[in-house]
Amino acid sequence: MVPKAELHVHLECTVSPERARRLAARHGVRLPQACFGPDGGYRYVDFPDFLELTRVVGSCLRDERDYYDITRDYLDAAAQAGVVYQEMIFWPDLPRQNGFAPEAALDAVEAAMAEAGAAGGPLCALQVVLVRHDGAEACETTARWAAGLRRQSVRAVNLAGNEATHPPAQFAHAFAIARDAGLGIVIHAGEAAGPQSVREALSIPGVTRIGHGVRAVEDPALVEELADRGVTLEVCPGSNVMLGFYPDFAAHPLRRLHDAGVKVTLNSDDPPFFRTSLAAEYEIAARHFGFTEAELRGLTRNAVEAGFATTAERAGLRERLGAN
Ligand SMILES: [Zn+2]
Repeated sequence: MVPKAELHVHLECTVSPERARRLAARHGVRLPQACFGPDGGYRYVDFPDFLELTRVVGSCLRDERDYYDITRDYLDAAAQAGVVYQEMIFWPDLPRQNGFAPEAALDAVEAAMAEAGAAGGPLCALQVVLVRHDGAEACETTARWAAGLRRQSVRAVNLAGNEATHPPAQFAHAFAIARDAGLGIVIHAGEAAGPQSVREALSIPGVTRIGHGVRAVEDPALVEELADRGVTLEVCPGSNVMLGFYPDFAAHPLRRLHDAGVKVTLNSDDPPFFRTSLAAEYEIAARHFGFTEAELRGLTRNAVEAGFATTAERAGLRERLGAN
């Protein structure tokens, strides 16, 4: 089995339909029948409907135990799929909205990470999401919260949300807070918006990784810059096709970016909502983009090198990959 590593998955959007039903039953939440297709998987008709579905599923995460369970679900599946390194993006506002402290949710996530790791699961690290359409002030508050945690598990902040209306420069102060606390910075860019959005993300000091970034391909000079600077793209092909940013894999630039020397990685983003998984993304890369096993191993190495693991952890991961 090809060893795998993932940098870009939103923890709250890893909840499987089966787990969502169990959480809903646990808390007496009624999930609308329209949420599920005839095969039991999630169903939505367009992007607003997708957002509403993730909101409904998120509303089922009512306590620490739920966070433990969804993290264990994801990491146990990751272990089965040969994942050696796993980063997850955590949204602190969701537990707040659902009536409990995000620190308590983090305690549960950390417990699940430690126990899954002890059972042979991946080494894990967390990022805290900054939701750009909530505005600069809200993102600064969240960055300050993340910086104040001083938890070994939390390694970065990640700017997500509506990139077209909220360019990264608006969040310079939030990034500075994160940087000063030694946290890494990731920015979602070049997914819904074009190459300019990637350029703007690259202008933020400390950015070494871009979430998605695939639309950089529309600007050859930018592709060259990404390759020269060694910036890593967290590519999510299944997500991009499911959300309609590309009509099919044939039109998707994963292969072109890779062959242009850009450090690309494979990621599942919101896997059950896109009917994918990290293992499925590796299969897609092989089947639709012709990646050889050696190239797939290279993508895993890219993720390990760009990950926010400590130096000692990265050394261990390199050894593990070398031995595979
Ligand atoms: Zn994302």
